[in-house]
Amino acid sequence: MTARILDGNKISSDIRAEAAQEVQSLIAAGKRPGLAVILAGHNPASEIYVRNKVKACEQLGIHSEKLTPPDSVTTEELLEMVNSLNQRDDIDGILVQLPLPKQVDSKKVLLAVSPEKDVDGFHPINVGNLSTQRPGLVPCTPSGVIEILRRSKISIEGQNATVVGRSDIVGKPAAMLLLNANATVTVCHSKTRDLPAVCRQADILVAAIGKAGFVSKDFLKPGATVIDVGINKITDPAEFDKFFAGDAARQKSFTEKGSSLVGDVDPHVGEVAGAMTPVPGGVGPLTIAMLMVNTIKACQMRRGSR
Ligand code: NDP
Repeated sequence: MTARILDGNKISSDIRAEAAQEVQSLIAAGKRPGLAVILAGHNPASEIYVRNKVKACEQLGIHSEKLTPPDSVTTEELLEMVNSLNQRDDIDGILVQLPLPKQVDSKKVLLAVSPEKDVDGFHPINVGNLSTQRPGLVPCTPSGVIEILRRSKISIEGQNATVVGRSDIVGKPAAMLLLNANATVTVCHSKTRDLPAVCRQADILVAAIGKAGFVSKDFLKPGATVIDVGINKITDPAEFDKFFAGDAARQKSFTEKGSSLVGDVDPHVGEVAGAMTPVPGGVGPLTIAMLMVNTIKACQMRRGSR
């Protein structure tokens, strides 16, 4: 069997096209959505993420602002920055790019973001809204997981869904969304006994672990759907061969760049799965699309029309 590949790039561009239309109607009503991103210090990976977020806003017609305090910024200065963004009517979403410089109390800063503008969905109020099925803002990557399933017409209700990983950012909210969609949900972590056997019960397996190619064929019920959230960079040629031997296009790019991206799922799982997301081009592109959707939703909820 060869798994059907769930194309995250296509789904992301469909969502962005729908979002662009919503932005146009909000602009026509005099409510242009606005996103502010706080990028403290110089972290090359964060700079790339923020650049991509700002670019996505520009493409959709969302107003965006980037605030770039220095590495030496204090918790108090960041709190002041967040508070002044909380007060502004033209700013609907506030995103504090993590990690923050080490002297900063990150939890305190994240807690200061008004729940109405918390487009990352990390605030305890929004976590509570999600777990009690109240309207609110939901973390972007887990929302992307659900969008991939829904738009690929993979039914969730009544299915056994297993999430490997229990982080506040991915694993837990993904499990909660699957539960809200009426799946029977199991959440696994590093202390789970006989993980492959638990995963073999799953009709839908979500991997959010942070370990390159960790989920092997042995973890899979034949025909299951696999959603791979992991993004891991590999540079070791032996490791590359283990996952991608025989893939000429990958080999070419690995030779040129000296690295390749692999998810938390071994690509050979595609020989057993019914459907799976690739890495790159699976869940990754959904994260920014869902950030745009959240910014629009935050605008509609706070300024009317929802
Ligand atoms: P965390 O490190 O916060 O969490 C990892 C989870 O995996 C933990 O719950 C941990 O268990 C569990 N885990 C680790 N080792 C094992 C093991 N051997 N067996 C079972 N469970 C294990 O990671 P994140 O949730 O932030 O991210 C997960 C992955 O998703 C990463 O690869 C990250 O790069 C990627 N990611 C991708 C995004 C995207 O846009 N596509 C966005 C965010 C993340 P325990 O709790 O017991 O320690």
